[in-house]
Amino acid sequence: MTAAKPFRELCAEHGIAVTHQRQILYEVMQGMHGHPSPEEIYAEVKRQVPSISLATVYKNIHLFVESGVLREVSLHHGSQRVEMNRDEHHHLVCSKCKSISDIDEKVLGVLPKRRKLAGGFLVERYAVDVIGLCANCQQG
Ligand SMILES: [Zn+2]
Ligand SMILES: [Zn+2]
Repeated sequence: MTAAKPFRELCAEHGIAVTHQRQILYEVMQGMHGHPSPEEIYAEVKRQVPSISLATVYKNIHLFVESGVLREVSLHHGSQRVEMNRDEHHHLVCSKCKSISDIDEKVLGVLPKRRKLAGGFLVERYAVDVIGLCANCQQG
């Protein structure tokens, strides 16, 4: 796991202002694992900042993702999820229960990055959604 940078440093790097609310929101999210939805994040933050609104949480998560402070899980179905795993990885998506688990990129085989594809497209990163059935959903 790559070490997290201090929030102030991240904000400076990505050009967003540091506010007390954003700081708390970010810290709460760092304590969460996997791929929390904005609603799950809101429920956690509300315990520390009872006055915070869901709209504020949505707005700031959007800002974090837009500015590049955090990554969003790219899914073609389901609700927005925020990526808390900073290591390069892919996703195993269950088509039945919609659960998402991480799989290290080495397991799928690593394609070269910083490589130009036909047409001149430069590969920086990629994330693969592996669609299937999780162990639970295969039973019964
Ligand atoms: Zn499942
Ligand atoms: Zn992930």
